Amino acid sequence: MYTKKIKYTTFDGSYSVESIYSEPDRYAQIDLISGSNKNLIPRGGGFSYSALSFDKKSISISTKHLNRFLEFDPKRKIIKVESGVKLIDLINFLHKKGFYLPVIPGHPLITIGACIAADVHGKNPFYDGTFCDWVNAIELYHPIKGYLKLKNNSKIFSLTCGGFGMTGLIINTSLKIKPLKSNFIETNIKKTNTIYDLINALVKSKSDYSYTWSNLSNLKKHETGLLFESSWVLKKLPVHATKFNDFKGYNFNYNTRKLLPFSLFNKFTIFLFNKFYFFYALTFKRNFKIHHIKSNFPFGFFSIYHFFYGRQGFYEPQFLVSFQNSFLFIQTVLHIIKKSKVSACFMSLKKFNGRQESLSMTGKGILVSFNFKRTKDLDLFLLKLKPILIKFKVQPNLTKDSKIDYIQAKNTIKNYKKFKAAINTYDSKRVFKSYLSNKIRL
Ligand SMILES: Cc1cc2nc3c(=O)[nH]c(=O)nc-3n(C[C@H](O)[C@H](O)[C@H](O)COP(=O)(O)OP(=O)(O)OC[C@H]3O[C@@H](n4cnc5c(N)ncnc54)[C@H](O)[C@@H]3O)c2cc1C
Repeated sequence: MYTKKIKYTTFDGSYSVESIYSEPDRYAQIDLISGSNKNLIPRGGGFSYSALSFDKKSISISTKHLNRFLEFDPKRKIIKVESGVKLIDLINFLHKKGFYLPVIPGHPLITIGACIAADVHGKNPFYDGTFCDWVNAIELYHPIKGYLKLKNNSKIFSLTCGGFGMTGLIINTSLKIKPLKSNFIETNIKKTNTIYDLINALVKSKSDYSYTWSNLSNLKKHETGLLFESSWVLKKLPVHATKFNDFKGYNFNYNTRKLLPFSLFNKFTIFLFNKFYFFYALTFKRNFKIHHIKSNFPFGFFSIYHFFYGRQGFYEPQFLVSFQNSFLFIQTVLHIIKKSKVSACFMSLKKFNGRQESLSMTGKGILVSFNFKRTKDLDLFLLKLKPILIKFKVQPNLTKDSKIDYIQAKNTIKNYKKFKAAINTYDSKRVFKSYLSNKIRL
């Protein structure tokens, strides 16, 4: 078995700590690690922006070797895989068989176990729901309870979906899949002139997938935005088995970024980068077709902006705000950005609909993401932002919010109290803990 002390750092570069890492390659080794009487926490690809898969007092159990495909049943439209299978490997496999996963988040190298534990969303959570809506069953390991086979109507299943590893280690899962509609996705881009128009256009959009992008580095013109609307190209059907080389994905993470000891971004270069992106999108991407697999990772090439932040890192929180409050909330945040010295890069919006019973976002509304450079001014800005988050009761995406604290969590995570009571009843010893779960007192 492979165990060692390593230095962990969150994807956004905000927090690092040394702790024990284990990489079991058979079930007996999982039992052995669990016998150590230490706290534990599962770890997938380690791509969360916040410290969800490690803590200095916990042993992280990597699912790197839990990477087998167990069953594929095209008639029942079901696939069973181990939890460490990478999203991109599953998507590539399904593509060749003429199927796809309806919920695909924006990084190809994350693991299926983490997609359940974080109940992630894809390009259109408003119509397709969240990842756990497509999970039939899981097998969960807990050192005191053993191996539990859980159907999607069980209480522990609901606690695990969006439970961020606190119920135990997901060993494998059975997922619902859909027949592939086409090989290609077609995207159109519209420019809007005000935030109000942007929200309106997004809310009214009937496309299969829609999201927006706004440049926040030019505060005089931040009202201008882009609406991306994508739909399956259904004219020439379905050619899934075309010559297609497996998409490998890209692997930007903290370890690649730290090679750059300083940030290439300052107010001026962020402004130039965004200007270029705006021009590029409107000139070359106004109406374009792209392979459906690549379309899942729209920031594929442009995720290079993460690299430009260098070792210093960034802060990219995401919040769910009700449709009713969305305009006022966004206006208020943009106003305090304007009044502060924080370096804001962009804002992105998409519609959301989730039915969560754990810690992930739940209900209908708009998902709002902001991207900031990590500077001293960021902390001052956050002092002003946090009361607004609480006032508007905007729910945080825990995978992205490395700055969340107990007060914000207690007041904005919809099921915080319910989850806390349920997890303590399920596991009074609270074996599985991360830095973030400790920070928000769970
Ligand atoms: C560029 C980028 C784009 C992203 N886009 C999106 C997006 O569009 N939508 C979205 O929802 N998210 C998005 N994310 C967030 C990402 O989907 C989540 O952070 C995901 O959980 C990371 O997966 P991972 O395998 O790296 O898990 P880790 O970061 O290692 O772990 C995440 C959590 O899952 C738990 N976990 C991992 N494996 C298991 C297991 N087998 N059993 C139980 N618990 C487990 C961990 O304990 C931890 O709490 C994005 C992230 C990046 C970096």
